[in-house]
Amino acid sequence: MAPGAAENDGRVARVVPLLRLHHLGRRQFDYAIPDGLTDAVRRGSIVTVPFGKRTVRAVVMERASAPESGDVSALKGVEAVGADVIAEELVDLAEAMAERYLCSLEACLRLVVPIGAAAGKVREASVRRDHVAVSADVDPDVVSGLTGKQRAVVDAIPAAGISKKALCDATGVGRGVLATLEKKGVIESRAGLLSGGDADEGRGSEAEGRPGGPSTPRALALWPEQARAVEDLVWALDGPGLTERLLWGVTGSGKTEVYLRVIEHALATGRGTILLVPEIALTPQTIGRVKARFGDDVGVFHSGLAQGQRLREYRRVASGAARIAVGARSAVFAPVRDLGLIIIDESHDNSYKQEEEPRYRVKTVAQMRLEAHGGLLLEGSATPAVESMTASEGRLRLSRRASGAPPAIEVVDMRRQGPGMLLASRSRQALAEVLRSGEQAIILLNRRGFAGYVHCETCGHVLMCTDCELSLTYHQGERKLLCHHCGRGYGQPHACPKCGEAPLTRASPGTERLDGELRTLVPGDQVFRLDSDVVSSAAATQAILSAFGSSHPGVLVGTQMVAKGHDFPDVTLVIVADADVGLYMPDFRAAERTFQLLTQVAGRAGRAQRPGRVLVQTSNPDVPCIRMALAGEEEAFYEQESITRERLGYPPFAELIRLVTSSPDAAKAQAAGRHLVQQLAPFFSGEELHGPAPLLRLRGRNRWQVLVAARQGERARTIIGQALAQLEEPYRRRGVVLLADVDPLSFG
Ligand code: ADP
Ligand code: ZN
Repeated sequence: MAPGAAENDGRVARVVPLLRLHHLGRRQFDYAIPDGLTDAVRRGSIVTVPFGKRTVRAVVMERASAPESGDVSALKGVEAVGADVIAEELVDLAEAMAERYLCSLEACLRLVVPIGAAAGKVREASVRRDHVAVSADVDPDVVSGLTGKQRAVVDAIPAAGISKKALCDATGVGRGVLATLEKKGVIESRAGLLSGGDADEGRGSEAEGRPGGPSTPRALALWPEQARAVEDLVWALDGPGLTERLLWGVTGSGKTEVYLRVIEHALATGRGTILLVPEIALTPQTIGRVKARFGDDVGVFHSGLAQGQRLREYRRVASGAARIAVGARSAVFAPVRDLGLIIIDESHDNSYKQEEEPRYRVKTVAQMRLEAHGGLLLEGSATPAVESMTASEGRLRLSRRASGAPPAIEVVDMRRQGPGMLLASRSRQALAEVLRSGEQAIILLNRRGFAGYVHCETCGHVLMCTDCELSLTYHQGERKLLCHHCGRGYGQPHACPKCGEAPLTRASPGTERLDGELRTLVPGDQVFRLDSDVVSSAAATQAILSAFGSSHPGVLVGTQMVAKGHDFPDVTLVIVADADVGLYMPDFRAAERTFQLLTQVAGRAGRAQRPGRVLVQTSNPDVPCIRMALAGEEEAFYEQESITRERLGYPPFAELIRLVTSSPDAAKAQAAGRHLVQQLAPFFSGEELHGPAPLLRLRGRNRWQVLVAARQGERARTIIGQALAQLEEPYRRRGVVLLADVDPLSFG
């Protein structure tokens, strides 16, 4: 038999079922291919197969002439084959990602399987706090064991999720039933996420029609800096191998126009493009402009699309009818043909890291995709990550501001203010002036809710979540204390639960409190608030932004959502209410994040002909990252930060791999952490291997962390992968979960 014949003719399909069977699982299962399907089944096919008591979707990894064990005749058969086949390149990618991210192959395959293709259920929904959705992968045995009432509840949950209250009302059950289902893993609730809206496509065409707006369909005559950038990028795109570039420029410096030119060149030379944007809700203009320039050649991907729409876009891209895919993080998996260009816009944005399995980073996945056939990976940002800055082979600077002079930045030293002052008198004055002249202001306070914590004046006790070692945030609108991690709500007690005394004081004010305070200074209809408590969808975000945009005067107050790339020409004042919020986090990126946020929000002031003013309220005006952000010393900041990271062995000078062990039983979690360290110790130096160290308890699970800062990432991943493969299963049986996060962004 000729080599390779088995792949084409074999009667066995080796598949990975799309079920979460095992955290690190690579297991594949054999099924017989019935006569009628022999032509249709190949690597990348999506099939349905009988599995346990039900039928599930599965991805075919290969065909074989004989099963791993036993005889073909003993195998169950493939039941059906879907019309869509995952491109070979993407199946390879999923396999490489499972290795790279030390996670299950199934979880990685899920990313490249078109949602809604073939039979079976995959429900994906981002839901608001106090919402529930059906878990993406439910253990069939658990489902078959549900009572009739429980089943009715599950069936009543729409794909997009539903609020717990509405669900209880609709089905006539109490919250206890939901809690039981959640414990069984059948449904899940998630806290504080934005679910994508569905308004993006429509808005694109609206932007097209706006005369003189940011979306002129015809190409503009490039500014000299743009022309130089385009020339270099086109050259890089045409060259062999994978090339990386960073386009460094503030909002309005002309980055998008550069992207469009490079995409044009890619198309002209027969290569496809993926353009990634951080959050669809906050970047509708970009999508509008790409569609205005390239029309039907653009496929748009985001979580707000209905399954059918998503599949339609997938097919347009997979068939080559659309050669440009635009979307948020997961669009990096779009089946673009002859892919040659991946652009990551606002590449510093945290949304480019997935915080659930597989914990991938978009930039790394983009590198993996382009490595095979070569191409250009282009990052664009006004405030690049230190890693992008240090590692980039080619940095292209766009220094032009859309118009006008840079804003005047002033420090408001809060150490000289009376206690309890949210806005200093200078800030109030500035605000009053701006509003009097019919202009607009943005106030940033990167903390949601009314009060960040509540404490007892007598004994100092801080009210905490019982499941998480985190202080509770008071939300006045709901008259509740909420845990911002797990979303659990508590009534506000009248007296301290510890010492029985009163009063309880609400400290550390958030956006809700600021919003209320502003309404005492400014007519209420001129105040707009933007944070994840008031918006739950892209459409709602857009509604608030556009209402603010057309309100003169107007004040927009909110969390870091207000700092992203919107363009409001009449904003002449930006106030940072508390520049210190992110400063003392136990995270080596705390300085970088503070610097980025201040630089970003300052860039919102004085966009048009009017000069802008930025007031930064801080009690730490001399901390380097704040001082440098205020002085606009960007180069200096990046250089200093890079030196610090090299000295301390942080990325990009080392690759971080974070391992977390967790269990309701504190001792077991700790023992697993110790065991991991024991296994790893022979392979790493003391500088590379840290822990186990205790983390905060979350959702009732005690957690320990082992951190590897490896000089040789690939070697480290191999070693850690082997250790996990050994320990994962035995510990899981004891109720301990082992989790790996390669290139972690958060350490809480
Ligand atoms: P960024 O993506 O960096 O925010 P844009 O590409 O959106 O910058 O450009 C900012 C504004 O300047 C937009 O309104 C855009 O239409 C305009 N613009 C960009 N490049 C040019 C150019 N070469 N000539 C005229 N206007 C331009
Ligand atoms: Zn909690």
